[in-house]
Amino acid sequence: MEGGADSLLPKWGKIRSELENTTGLSIIVQPEMRDFTTWKVGGRALALVEVKDEEELDQVIFLCEKEGIRWKILGHGSNILVKDEGFPGVVIRLKGNFCELKREGNTVEGGGGASLFQLVSFALQEGLGGSEFLVGIPGTVGGAVRINAGCFGKEIGSLVERVKVRWKSGKKEWLTRSCLTFSYRDSNLKQGEGTVILRSAFHLFPEDQKVSREKIKRFCYLRRERQPLEWPSAGSVFRNPPGDSAARIIEEMGLKGLRVGKAQVSSKHSNFIVNLGGAKSWEIEYLMNWIQKEVYMNKNMWLEREVELWP
Ligand SMILES: Cc1cc2nc3c(=O)[nH]c(=O)nc-3n(C[C@H](O)[C@H](O)[C@H](O)COP(=O)(O)OP(=O)(O)OC[C@H]3O[C@@H](n4cnc5c(N)ncnc54)[C@H](O)[C@@H]3O)c2cc1C
Repeated sequence: MEGGADSLLPKWGKIRSELENTTGLSIIVQPEMRDFTTWKVGGRALALVEVKDEEELDQVIFLCEKEGIRWKILGHGSNILVKDEGFPGVVIRLKGNFCELKREGNTVEGGGGASLFQLVSFALQEGLGGSEFLVGIPGTVGGAVRINAGCFGKEIGSLVERVKVRWKSGKKEWLTRSCLTFSYRDSNLKQGEGTVILRSAFHLFPEDQKVSREKIKRFCYLRRERQPLEWPSAGSVFRNPPGDSAARIIEEMGLKGLRVGKAQVSSKHSNFIVNLGGAKSWEIEYLMNWIQKEVYMNKNMWLEREVELWP
């Protein structure tokens, strides 16, 4: 960590000693964020704490806020770029109860920390269909609902029945469908810092397991065909402009294959920037800025980032 983050260590020390009295709380001090993101880049955070239930989550957030230390929820780190100087705050991961899934009729309810792969596998086991398209998205329920993750013309928001949130104030409530808005890679849960998605319920439908399995196979095949899955990445870097595709535009600009250090605009899918091994966060950011400038100068159009920069 840089930028005076050392001054946070005494405050962190206070939080840590209070947290260590909590049974089972897993704490990693000054973790390398590259170990917790799919891009495999990023410097250290102050600490990474894994909480297993709402009580532990409340406690960690309460202590951080009391000491004036920033905190963020981390899912699978598949949609973030952590800077090389790291994140001067506490990173919280939802584990334990937050990874559990249960069925009620045709609805599957999952914790914010459950992976989409777990969700799809659980639905398949239960003979429920509708979530198969999520199979190759390497995110968590919380991360995906927040951004309304989607692919192959479908979005997770269309399945959401209700979401349990923890507001910044600490208040928790279930939001029904009528309180939720989803649009392309966006939802009203993204607004305002400090909202945590604790659980989400998805409306599915009875489906023959054979049919679901075939769909899953097909979606996996399409991903392998179109995406450079052999390299670390964060999926699509830019949002598609209305009626167009960011990948097509980047290719048209002749930027496919462009390389800065160990970061490269994928030659298989131009909206992916891949880490060829040991890339720095700044190299990826440099490529992102290069693409944005080039597209702006040639097409008078600003490509908006889909991935989030930390801090
Ligand atoms: C190979 C590859 C393919 C991909 N394909 C797709 C695709 O087809 N479609 C698509 O939409 N995306 C895709 N992605 C991007 C990414 O997987 C999704 O955006 C995913 O939903 C991110 O979830 P996450 O848990 O990894 O979130 P993270 O990257 O960990 O976090 C992203 C943001 O969500 C916040 N967040 C995470 N969990 C919570 C929570 N419980 N409550 C509140 N905030 C939370 C974080 O604080 C952060 O602000 C792909 C990524 C990769 C690497």
